[in-house]
Amino acid sequence: MAERAYFDWNATAPLRLEARAAMLAALDLTGNASSVHAEGRAARALIEKARAQVAALVGGVARNVTFTASATEANMLALTPALEPGGRKVPRDRLFVSATEHPSVRSGGRFPAEAVDELPVTGDGLLDLAALERSLQQSERPLVSVMLANNETGVTQPIAAIAAIVHAANGLLHVDAVQGAGRIDCSLSDLGADLISLSSHKLGGPQGAGALVRREDLHIAAPLIRGGGQERGARAGTENIAAIAGFGAACAAADAARKADAGRMAALRDRIEAEILRLTPQAVIFGRGAARLPNTSLLTIPGLKAETAIIAFDLKGIAVSSGAACSSGTVQASHVLAAMGVEPALARGAIRISLGWSTTEHEVESLINAWMTVTSSLLKKHANAA
Ligand code: PLP
Repeated sequence: MAERAYFDWNATAPLRLEARAAMLAALDLTGNASSVHAEGRAARALIEKARAQVAALVGGVARNVTFTASATEANMLALTPALEPGGRKVPRDRLFVSATEHPSVRSGGRFPAEAVDELPVTGDGLLDLAALERSLQQSERPLVSVMLANNETGVTQPIAAIAAIVHAANGLLHVDAVQGAGRIDCSLSDLGADLISLSSHKLGGPQGAGALVRREDLHIAAPLIRGGGQERGARAGTENIAAIAGFGAACAAADAARKADAGRMAALRDRIEAEILRLTPQAVIFGRGAARLPNTSLLTIPGLKAETAIIAFDLKGIAVSSGAACSSGTVQASHVLAAMGVEPALARGAIRISLGWSTTEHEVESLINAWMTVTSSLLKKHANAA
Protein backbone atom coordinates (compact mmCIF):
# COMPACT_ATOMS: atom_id res chain seq x y z
CA MET A 1 0.00 0.00 0.00
CA ALA A 2 1.19 3.54 -0.73
CA GLU A 3 2.15 5.63 2.28
CA ARG A 4 -0.86 6.30 4.50
CA ALA A 5 -1.52 8.67 7.38
CA TYR A 6 -4.05 7.40 9.92
CA PHE A 7 -6.15 10.01 11.74
CA ASP A 8 -9.03 7.85 12.93
CA TRP A 9 -7.79 6.77 16.36
CA ASN A 10 -11.16 7.41 17.99
CA ALA A 11 -12.64 4.68 15.78
CA THR A 12 -9.83 2.24 16.54
CA ALA A 13 -6.25 2.76 17.66
CA PRO A 14 -3.43 0.65 16.19
CA LEU A 15 -2.51 -2.42 18.21
CA ARG A 16 0.28 -1.64 20.69
CA LEU A 17 3.38 -3.82 20.46
CA GLU A 18 2.95 -4.79 24.12
CA ALA A 19 -0.63 -5.94 23.41
CA ARG A 20 0.45 -7.92 20.37
CA ALA A 21 3.18 -9.71 22.33
CA ALA A 22 0.78 -10.57 25.16
CA MET A 23 -1.77 -11.89 22.65
CA LEU A 24 0.74 -14.06 20.82
CA ALA A 25 1.87 -15.58 24.12
CA ALA A 26 -1.76 -16.25 25.10
CA LEU A 27 -2.55 -17.88 21.76
CA ASP A 28 0.11 -20.48 22.49
CA LEU A 29 -1.69 -21.59 25.65
CA THR A 30 -4.21 -24.41 25.59
CA GLY A 31 -6.09 -24.27 28.88
CA ASN A 32 -9.61 -23.15 29.72
CA ALA A 33 -9.36 -20.69 32.59
CA SER A 34 -12.10 -22.59 34.48
CA SER A 35 -10.10 -25.84 34.53
CA VAL A 36 -8.18 -26.78 37.67
CA HIS A 37 -5.17 -28.43 35.97
CA ALA A 38 -1.88 -26.65 35.23
CA GLU A 39 -3.00 -25.60 31.72
CA GLY A 40 -6.19 -24.09 33.11
CA ARG A 41 -4.31 -22.34 35.87
CA ALA A 42 -1.90 -20.82 33.35
CA ALA A 43 -4.84 -19.41 31.38
CA ARG A 44 -6.43 -18.13 34.60
CA ALA A 45 -3.15 -16.41 35.53
CA LEU A 46 -3.18 -14.43 32.26
CA ILE A 47 -6.73 -13.26 32.87
CA GLU A 48 -5.98 -12.22 36.44
CA LYS A 49 -2.85 -10.36 35.35
CA ALA A 50 -4.93 -8.46 32.78
CA ARG A 51 -7.62 -7.79 35.37
CA ALA A 52 -5.04 -6.16 37.64
CA GLN A 53 -3.71 -4.08 34.71
CA VAL A 54 -7.20 -2.84 33.81
CA ALA A 55 -7.96 -2.07 37.46
CA ALA A 56 -4.69 -0.13 37.77
CA LEU A 57 -5.61 2.13 34.84
CA VAL A 58 -8.68 3.36 36.72
CA GLY A 59 -7.29 3.03 40.26
CA GLY A 60 -9.82 0.28 40.92
CA VAL A 61 -9.70 -3.10 42.63
CA ALA A 62 -9.10 -6.11 40.37
CA ARG A 63 -12.02 -8.17 41.72
CA ASN A 64 -14.41 -5.38 40.66
CA VAL A 65 -13.42 -5.62 36.98
CA THR A 66 -15.79 -7.61 34.74
CA PHE A 67 -14.47 -8.46 31.29
CA THR A 68 -16.95 -8.14 28.42
CA ALA A 69 -16.72 -8.44 24.63
CA SER A 70 -16.91 -4.67 24.08
CA ALA A 71 -17.62 -1.38 25.79
CA THR A 72 -21.06 -1.56 24.22
CA GLU A 73 -21.65 -4.70 26.27
CA ALA A 74 -20.11 -3.09 29.38
CA ASN A 75 -22.57 -0.20 28.98
CA MET A 76 -25.48 -2.64 28.66
CA LEU A 77 -24.30 -4.48 31.76
CA ALA A 78 -24.06 -1.24 33.74
CA LEU A 79 -27.34 0.35 32.67
CA THR A 80 -29.76 -1.79 34.64
CA PRO A 81 -32.20 -0.94 37.42
CA ALA A 82 -30.67 -3.89 39.34
CA LEU A 83 -27.74 -2.02 40.89
CA GLU A 84 -27.36 -2.62 44.60
CA PRO A 85 -25.05 -0.19 46.42
CA GLY A 86 -24.11 -1.29 49.94
CA GLY A 87 -26.37 -4.33 49.69
CA ARG A 88 -29.57 -2.24 49.30
CA LYS A 89 -31.82 -4.33 47.08
CA VAL A 90 -34.04 -1.51 45.82
CA PRO A 91 -34.03 -0.98 42.03
CA ARG A 92 -33.01 2.27 40.36
CA ASP A 93 -36.21 3.99 39.23
CA ARG A 94 -34.95 6.21 36.35
CA LEU A 95 -32.00 6.52 34.01
CA PHE A 96 -30.68 9.92 32.91
CA VAL A 97 -28.21 10.10 30.03
CA SER A 98 -26.61 13.12 28.42
CA ALA A 99 -27.75 13.94 24.89
CA THR A 100 -24.26 13.41 23.45
CA GLU A 101 -23.72 9.85 24.71
CA HIS A 102 -22.62 7.01 22.45
CA PRO A 103 -25.63 5.11 21.00
CA SER A 104 -24.92 2.18 23.34
CA VAL A 105 -25.79 4.48 26.28
CA ARG A 106 -28.45 6.57 24.58
CA SER A 107 -30.39 3.39 23.86
CA GLY A 108 -31.09 3.21 27.61
CA GLY A 109 -29.52 -0.17 28.30
CA ARG A 110 -31.91 -2.40 30.22
CA PHE A 111 -34.29 0.34 31.39
CA PRO A 112 -37.77 0.53 29.87
CA ALA A 113 -37.94 3.42 27.36
CA GLU A 114 -40.40 5.35 29.54
CA ALA A 115 -37.89 5.39 32.42
CA VAL A 116 -35.10 7.01 30.37
CA ASP A 117 -34.56 10.78 30.14
CA GLU A 118 -32.07 12.69 28.02
CA LEU A 119 -30.20 15.63 29.57
CA PRO A 120 -29.36 18.73 27.48
CA VAL A 121 -25.86 20.02 26.76
CA THR A 122 -24.55 23.53 26.11
CA GLY A 123 -23.35 24.83 22.74
CA ASP A 124 -19.89 23.53 23.61
CA GLY A 125 -21.24 20.08 24.40
CA LEU A 126 -20.99 20.29 28.18
CA LEU A 127 -23.73 18.77 30.30
CA ASP A 128 -26.15 21.42 31.57
CA LEU A 129 -25.62 21.01 35.31
CA ALA A 130 -28.68 23.05 36.32
CA ALA A 131 -30.86 20.83 34.12
CA LEU A 132 -29.24 17.76 35.69
CA GLU A 133 -30.13 19.01 39.20
CA ARG A 134 -33.72 19.79 38.17
CA SER A 135 -34.20 16.45 36.41
CA LEU A 136 -32.94 14.42 39.35
CA GLN A 137 -35.83 15.77 41.44
CA GLN A 138 -38.15 13.49 39.42
CA SER A 139 -36.47 10.39 40.78
CA GLU A 140 -35.84 8.80 44.17
CA ARG A 141 -33.03 6.49 43.10
CA PRO A 142 -31.61 7.68 39.79
CA LEU A 143 -28.86 6.18 37.68
CA VAL A 144 -27.02 8.79 35.61
CA SER A 145 -24.73 8.01 32.69
CA VAL A 146 -22.34 10.66 31.38
CA MET A 147 -19.31 10.05 29.19
CA LEU A 148 -15.84 11.18 30.21
CA ALA A 149 -15.02 12.39 26.70
CA ASN A 150 -17.08 12.60 23.55
CA ASN A 151 -16.03 10.40 20.64
CA GLU A 152 -16.87 13.03 18.00
CA THR A 153 -15.77 16.34 19.55
CA GLY A 154 -13.36 15.15 22.25
CA VAL A 155 -15.16 17.44 24.74
CA THR A 156 -14.56 16.23 28.30
CA GLN A 157 -17.23 16.49 30.97
CA PRO A 158 -16.63 17.80 34.52
CA ILE A 159 -17.31 14.35 35.94
CA ALA A 160 -16.33 15.11 39.56
CA ALA A 161 -18.83 17.99 39.71
CA ILE A 162 -21.49 15.81 38.07
CA ALA A 163 -20.79 13.01 40.57
CA ALA A 164 -21.30 15.41 43.49
CA ILE A 165 -24.72 16.44 42.14
CA VAL A 166 -25.75 12.83 41.41
CA HIS A 167 -24.69 11.54 44.82
CA ALA A 168 -26.43 14.40 46.63
CA ALA A 169 -29.62 13.22 44.90
CA ASN A 170 -29.20 9.62 46.13
CA GLY A 171 -28.05 8.63 42.65
CA LEU A 172 -25.38 6.43 41.10
CA LEU A 173 -23.07 7.58 38.30
CA HIS A 174 -21.93 5.47 35.37
CA VAL A 175 -19.13 6.93 33.24
CA ASP A 176 -18.41 5.73 29.72
CA ALA A 177 -14.67 6.39 29.78
CA VAL A 178 -13.97 4.72 26.43
CA GLN A 179 -12.42 7.75 24.73
CA GLY A 180 -10.76 9.24 27.79
CA ALA A 181 -9.04 6.13 29.15
CA GLY A 182 -5.33 6.14 28.47
CA ARG A 183 -5.50 9.74 27.25
CA ILE A 184 -6.53 11.63 30.39
CA ASP A 185 -6.88 10.73 34.07
CA CYS A 186 -9.76 8.35 34.57
CA SER A 187 -9.41 7.15 38.13
CA LEU A 188 -12.64 5.99 39.74
CA SER A 189 -12.01 7.98 42.89
CA ASP A 190 -10.91 11.24 41.20
CA LEU A 191 -13.96 11.09 38.97
CA GLY A 192 -16.25 10.00 41.80
CA ALA A 193 -17.80 7.43 39.47
CA ASP A 194 -19.61 4.30 40.67
CA LEU A 195 -19.12 2.40 37.40
CA ILE A 196 -16.72 2.91 34.48
CA SER A 197 -16.85 1.31 31.01
CA LEU A 198 -13.67 0.75 29.00
CA SER A 199 -12.92 -0.49 25.49
CA SER A 200 -9.73 -2.32 24.59
CA HIS A 201 -9.40 -1.21 20.97
CA LYS A 202 -9.51 2.52 21.72
CA LEU A 203 -6.32 2.36 23.78
CA GLY A 204 -4.21 0.00 21.73
CA GLY A 205 -5.61 -3.41 22.62
CA PRO A 206 -7.48 -5.73 20.26
CA GLN A 207 -11.07 -5.26 19.16
CA GLY A 208 -13.65 -7.41 20.91
CA ALA A 209 -12.72 -6.80 24.55
CA GLY A 210 -14.11 -4.37 27.08
CA ALA A 211 -14.59 -4.05 30.81
CA LEU A 212 -16.93 -2.67 33.40
CA VAL A 213 -15.22 -1.56 36.59
CA ARG A 214 -17.38 -0.88 39.63
CA ARG A 215 -16.73 0.65 43.00
CA GLU A 216 -16.13 -1.76 45.85
CA ASP A 217 -19.58 -2.16 47.41
CA LEU A 218 -21.73 -2.03 44.28
CA HIS A 219 -23.36 -5.27 43.20
CA ILE A 220 -24.94 -5.80 39.76
CA ALA A 221 -27.79 -8.18 40.50
CA ALA A 222 -28.76 -8.83 36.86
CA PRO A 223 -26.09 -10.39 34.63
CA LEU A 224 -26.48 -9.81 30.91
CA ILE A 225 -25.39 -13.30 29.95
CA ARG A 226 -26.29 -16.24 32.19
CA GLY A 227 -24.71 -19.65 32.06
CA GLY A 228 -21.45 -20.83 33.62
CA GLY A 229 -20.09 -18.91 36.57
CA GLN A 230 -17.36 -17.01 34.68
CA GLU A 231 -16.53 -13.47 35.77
CA ARG A 232 -17.91 -14.28 39.25
CA GLY A 233 -21.34 -14.90 37.75
CA ALA A 234 -21.51 -11.44 36.15
CA ARG A 235 -20.81 -12.56 32.57
CA ALA A 236 -21.04 -16.18 31.50
CA GLY A 237 -19.05 -17.63 28.60
CA THR A 238 -15.51 -18.95 28.23
CA GLU A 239 -13.14 -16.01 28.31
CA ASN A 240 -11.31 -14.77 25.18
CA ILE A 241 -7.93 -15.07 26.82
CA ALA A 242 -5.82 -13.60 24.02
CA ALA A 243 -8.05 -10.53 23.71
CA ILE A 244 -8.15 -10.04 27.47
CA ALA A 245 -4.35 -10.42 27.76
CA GLY A 246 -3.87 -7.88 24.96
CA PHE A 247 -6.34 -5.50 26.59
CA GLY A 248 -4.49 -5.70 29.92
CA ALA A 249 -1.10 -5.12 28.31
CA ALA A 250 -2.49 -2.14 26.37
CA CYS A 251 -3.85 -0.61 29.60
CA ALA A 252 -0.45 -0.94 31.29
CA ALA A 253 1.35 0.58 28.29
CA ALA A 254 -1.18 3.41 27.94
CA ASP A 255 -0.97 4.19 31.64
CA ALA A 256 2.83 4.31 31.64
CA ALA A 257 3.02 6.61 28.61
CA ARG A 258 -0.11 8.69 29.22
CA LYS A 259 1.35 12.00 30.37
CA ALA A 260 4.12 12.13 27.76
CA ASP A 261 1.78 11.01 24.98
CA ALA A 262 -0.90 13.53 25.92
CA GLY A 263 1.54 16.45 25.69
CA ARG A 264 2.81 15.33 22.29
CA MET A 265 -0.69 14.67 20.92
CA ALA A 266 -1.98 18.03 22.12
CA ALA A 267 0.92 19.83 20.44
CA LEU A 268 0.25 18.04 17.12
CA ARG A 269 -3.52 18.55 17.35
CA ASP A 270 -3.05 22.26 18.14
CA ARG A 271 -0.72 22.60 15.17
CA ILE A 272 -3.29 20.97 12.87
CA GLU A 273 -6.00 23.34 14.09
CA ALA A 274 -3.79 26.43 13.83
CA GLU A 275 -2.72 25.52 10.27
CA ILE A 276 -6.27 24.77 9.18
CA LEU A 277 -7.47 28.11 10.58
CA ARG A 278 -4.61 29.86 8.81
CA LEU A 279 -5.37 28.18 5.47
CA THR A 280 -9.15 28.43 5.79
CA PRO A 281 -10.08 31.11 8.34
CA GLN A 282 -13.76 30.27 7.90
CA ALA A 283 -13.16 26.86 9.54
CA VAL A 284 -15.32 26.04 12.56
CA ILE A 285 -13.93 23.85 15.36
CA PHE A 286 -16.69 22.23 17.39
CA GLY A 287 -16.46 22.26 21.20
CA ARG A 288 -13.42 24.50 21.09
CA GLY A 289 -14.57 26.55 24.09
CA ALA A 290 -14.64 23.49 26.37
CA ALA A 291 -11.91 21.26 27.76
CA ARG A 292 -11.16 18.56 25.17
CA LEU A 293 -9.12 15.39 24.77
CA PRO A 294 -5.58 16.11 23.60
CA ASN A 295 -5.99 14.02 20.44
CA THR A 296 -9.32 15.04 18.87
CA SER A 297 -10.51 17.80 16.59
CA LEU A 298 -13.94 17.96 14.96
CA LEU A 299 -14.12 20.69 12.38
CA THR A 300 -15.56 21.85 9.09
CA ILE A 301 -15.80 24.74 6.71
CA PRO A 302 -19.23 25.97 5.64
CA GLY A 303 -20.36 24.30 2.41
CA LEU A 304 -18.30 21.12 2.86
CA LYS A 305 -19.91 17.67 2.73
CA ALA A 306 -18.20 15.12 4.95
CA GLU A 307 -18.95 12.09 2.74
CA THR A 308 -17.13 13.50 -0.28
CA ALA A 309 -14.34 15.06 1.79
CA ILE A 310 -13.53 11.75 3.49
CA ILE A 311 -13.27 9.98 0.14
CA ALA A 312 -11.07 12.76 -1.26
CA PHE A 313 -8.74 12.54 1.76
CA ASP A 314 -8.68 8.76 1.49
CA LEU A 315 -7.57 8.98 -2.15
CA LYS A 316 -4.70 11.15 -0.95
CA GLY A 317 -3.68 8.46 1.56
CA ILE A 318 -5.24 10.10 4.60
CA ALA A 319 -7.75 8.39 6.87
CA VAL A 320 -10.10 10.80 8.63
CA SER A 321 -13.72 10.23 9.52
CA SER A 322 -16.95 12.10 9.67
CA GLY A 323 -17.98 13.17 13.14
CA ALA A 324 -21.16 11.19 12.96
CA ALA A 325 -21.66 7.47 13.16
CA CYS A 326 -20.95 5.83 9.88
CA SER A 327 -22.63 2.52 9.29
CA SER A 328 -22.46 0.60 6.02
CA GLY A 329 -20.73 3.58 4.44
CA THR A 330 -23.64 5.96 5.04
CA VAL A 331 -23.00 9.07 7.10
CA GLN A 332 -25.92 9.78 9.43
CA ALA A 333 -26.73 13.13 11.01
CA SER A 334 -24.69 13.68 14.17
CA HIS A 335 -26.87 13.59 17.30
CA VAL A 336 -23.92 15.15 19.14
CA LEU A 337 -23.79 18.27 16.96
CA ALA A 338 -27.61 18.45 16.89
CA ALA A 339 -27.64 18.45 20.71
CA MET A 340 -25.06 21.27 20.65
CA GLY A 341 -27.42 23.31 18.47
CA VAL A 342 -25.28 23.15 15.31
CA GLU A 343 -27.17 23.84 12.06
CA PRO A 344 -27.70 20.54 10.14
CA ALA A 345 -26.07 21.97 6.98
CA LEU A 346 -22.89 22.83 8.90
CA ALA A 347 -22.95 19.56 10.87
CA ARG A 348 -23.08 17.61 7.59
CA GLY A 349 -19.55 18.76 6.82
CA ALA A 350 -17.96 17.81 10.14
CA ILE A 351 -14.65 15.99 9.76
CA ARG A 352 -13.10 14.24 12.74
CA ILE A 353 -9.34 14.20 12.98
CA SER A 354 -8.10 11.99 15.80
CA LEU A 355 -4.51 11.03 16.46
CA GLY A 356 -2.45 9.00 18.88
CA TRP A 357 0.88 8.06 20.38
CA SER A 358 2.55 7.09 17.13
CA THR A 359 1.30 10.00 15.00
CA THR A 360 4.29 11.72 13.40
CA GLU A 361 5.07 15.29 12.35
CA HIS A 362 5.35 13.95 8.81
CA GLU A 363 1.77 12.60 8.92
CA VAL A 364 0.55 15.93 10.25
CA GLU A 365 2.27 17.69 7.36
CA SER A 366 0.61 15.34 4.84
CA LEU A 367 -2.77 16.14 6.37
CA ILE A 368 -2.20 19.89 6.28
CA ASN A 369 -0.95 19.73 2.68
CA ALA A 370 -4.01 17.73 1.65
CA TRP A 371 -6.42 20.04 3.51
CA MET A 372 -6.09 22.98 1.14
CA THR A 373 -6.32 20.97 -2.09
CA VAL A 374 -9.19 18.77 -0.95
CA THR A 375 -11.33 21.50 0.57
CA SER A 376 -10.81 24.11 -2.15
CA SER A 377 -11.61 21.68 -4.96
CA LEU A 378 -14.68 20.33 -3.15
CA LEU A 379 -16.00 23.78 -2.32
CA LYS A 380 -15.52 24.82 -5.99
CA LYS A 381 -17.41 21.72 -7.17
CA HIS A 382 -20.27 22.33 -4.73
CA ALA A 383 -20.47 26.01 -5.74
CA ASN A 384 -20.63 25.08 -9.44
CA ALA A 385 -23.35 22.51 -8.75
CA ALA A 386 -25.45 25.03 -6.78
N1 PLP B 1 -18.56 4.53 24.01
C1 PLP B 1 -17.88 5.42 23.26
C2 PLP B 1 -17.75 6.83 23.75
C3 PLP B 1 -17.31 5.04 22.05
O1 PLP B 1 -16.64 5.93 21.30
C4 PLP B 1 -17.46 3.69 21.63
C5 PLP B 1 -16.92 3.26 20.32
O2 PLP B 1 -16.85 4.02 19.38
C6 PLP B 1 -18.16 2.79 22.45
C7 PLP B 1 -18.70 3.25 23.63
C8 PLP B 1 -18.33 1.35 22.07
O3 PLP B 1 -17.11 0.66 22.23
P1 PLP B 1 -16.95 -0.80 21.61
O4 PLP B 1 -16.49 -0.61 20.21
O5 PLP B 1 -15.91 -1.49 22.47
O6 PLP B 1 -18.26 -1.47 21.72
